[in-house]
Order: sequence, then C-alpha cells, then structure tokens
Amino acid sequence: MRVGILGGGQLGLMLAESIQHLGHQALVYERDADSPCHQRLASVTTGTLEDTPRLQSFLQQVDVVTFDSENIPAAPLEPFAAKLFPSLQVLQTCQDRLAEKRFLSANGFSPVDFAWVDEGAPVLATAEKLGFPCVAKTIRGGYDGKGQTRLNGYEDAVRYDRKRQTLDSAPALVLESFVELLAEVSCVVARDASGAIWPFPVFENIHRNHILDFTLVPARLEQNHQTQALTMAGDIAQALQVVGLLTVEFFLAKSADRTPKLLVNELAPRTHNSGHVTRAACQLSQFDALARILTGTPMCRPTLRTGGYCMGQLLGDLWPSVAGALEATPLVQSSQLSELYLYGKTEARPGRKMGHFIVEAGCGDDALNVAQQLRNTVPSPK
Ligand code: AMP
Repeated sequence: MRVGILGGGQLGLMLAESIQHLGHQALVYERDADSPCHQRLASVTTGTLEDTPRLQSFLQQVDVVTFDSENIPAAPLEPFAAKLFPSLQVLQTCQDRLAEKRFLSANGFSPVDFAWVDEGAPVLATAEKLGFPCVAKTIRGGYDGKGQTRLNGYEDAVRYDRKRQTLDSAPALVLESFVELLAEVSCVVARDASGAIWPFPVFENIHRNHILDFTLVPARLEQNHQTQALTMAGDIAQALQVVGLLTVEFFLAKSADRTPKLLVNELAPRTHNSGHVTRAACQLSQFDALARILTGTPMCRPTLRTGGYCMGQLLGDLWPSVAGALEATPLVQSSQLSELYLYGKTEARPGRKMGHFIVEAGCGDDALNVAQQLRNTVPSPK
C-alpha cells in the first residue's frame, strides 16, 4: 500500500518508519525542505498545504492518508475525504477548540469549564461570568501553550482587551477556568476499522514552560483514575468514530469538595509526543499501531512491559552542547537507556524538540528520577 502522511516532522518520520517495517510505502508531504523526513526518507514531496494542485497530485498517488498535526486546512482535503484517517469530521472537530469542547460537553465527557468570545469581541464580561483566574486560548492553531494567556483578574482582562482593540482582527477565543493541577495524564487509544478499541496504558506527563518535558509509565495515579481515564478515552474515540489513533489529554484537578477530578484538556487525533514512551514501554508502539490500522494489518494488544519507563525530551535549548558532546555523557552510556532518538533537525532553537530518550527502571517514579539525573548530565550551552 502507499500510505500518505501530511507533515514531515518527527511524528511523521517515526510513523513512516513503522509503515516501512510492515512492508508498505510511506509517502510524505511537507513544506519545510529541511524537515526530519527530508533528512531520513527517500520519498518526500516538498509543498505547502495551500498549494492545491501539488497537494492534490500527492493525494492522488496514495491509497490512504493521515496527518501529523490537526492544525491543517481541511478544505483542500475534502475531495479526498474517503482516503483520510482519522476522518475529515474528526479533524475538523479537533482543530477547533470550541467545536471540540462542545462535542465533549454534548456527549457527557467533562471538559474544563469554558466559555467563548467571538472574533473582535472583548473578553472582560465573559471572563467575569466564568470567574478568575481563567485562561484565554485561541480557538485554532495553538499548541505547547502558544496562543494562551492567563487572566488572573479584572485588571488582566482590561489590559488584554486593550491589546485586542489594537489588532486588525482579534481572534475568537475559548476561555477556560484555570484549574489547580494535581497531575497531567494522557491516553492514546487506537481504534481500528472494525471499531475495536486498543488502549495504551495511561501516561503521566510533566511539562516545563508548557512544553512536555517527561512522560512516565506506569503513571503515579490511583487505579480508579487510571480506569476512568482509559474508559473515557475509549468512549471518546468511539463517539467520534475515529479510525486511527486518538490521544486524550487529561487534567487531574483539585475540586471544590477536595476530591480530585479528571477533566479533559484536549484531543489530538494522531500520534502524540507523550506516546513516544510506547517505543520502549509497550509491545507495540503508537506508531506501529497507527501503521497497522492504516495498512489494514491486524492489530495486537499494546501491552505494557514490566518495570517503569520514562521519556525525556531533548530541546533546542540543550542542542549546541548535545550535538557536539553527546557521546561523552552518562546519558548515552547508561545501561538503563532503552532508546535515544535524534530527529535530525539542522537548526536548534530554544523550545524546539530535537530528540528524545527513554530509560527503563523498576517503576515509573524510579524511571523519572533516572531520566532527570541523566538529562542533567548533558552540559548546557555556554
Ligand atoms: P494546552 O496547549 O492547552 O494543552 O496547554 C498547555 C499546558 O498549559 C497544559 O499542559 C497545562 O500545563 C497548562 N494549562 C492549559 N490550560 C490550563 C488550565 N485551564 N488550567 C491550568 N493549566 C492549564
């Protein structure tokens, strides 16, 4: 089969490798001629999603197609909707924060309390009604905390509105209550063409500056919350009729009655940064699972291996030193290292994901400690 991937970053690259391992062809379409897929794969078409003739000629060549980001225009894909997995409808729901939250609420899944503000309208009255502190998020295009502003009170909202007034077109927003986080977890579930659901274990995520820093598994979460998260993730995939992967990001939040509450933060209908840990921790990785579904290969259970695993991110902040001196670090030499994967990006920028590593230990907590210690041995740039 010829499997198309829209997006040639690290998610596209690892998926392409899994497709190839199954004996199929992976064809990638990517705007940046210097992308990880350009560095490592033979068959990459360079083009933008706005270049309709080029995109359509790419789509004509493939049997099925998927994407490595939901922040892509849906309209040019419409004539090829039958080839798209997950579907155009899933893509459209998950690329619009408001549509996503409305879907979650309407189907009895619990998003964080939210309200919305129309394009050009001020936030103040809506923010006061929802309550402070809250977070203003753009409806489209945000990730890793981009397009988000915390509003602690009246003054912040007034200042925010003043800034909005200076914009030619102030974007429509979702306002979310700011929740006190006890933990952040994610669930990746695969749903195949027959409708069967294959859940990965619950991952616990630790962020720094809104960017995922470490993912550990098994998560340090009570069993009832783990079961609740897995059940909800499977039910959401079912309700959306996803064929492919769905990642559900959850907040474990403090609530007024002091009982921790599991709330849905957001959905991603694709492989996920937190799911990198599956490459060592599970018998089937998230990339292998999606490759199987796209190529109609029978699925197998993505069982968690024994022990604990932690994925640590290597960001561009470290890069100038890592690129030059990686071999000499205890990170590379550690007997607990299961995987070190560098994405082949030529330009390092602060906050840019350049690679990841996965370590193995007796439990999730131990694995996190090992990962933190090992990453600290990588010398920072001067
Ligand atoms: P997002 O891109 O929406 O997943 O947000 C990035 C990160 O910001 C999350 O992983 C949280 O750490 C934090 N965050 C986002 N929304 C909220 C919220 N409503 N309350 C508390 N923290 C939040």
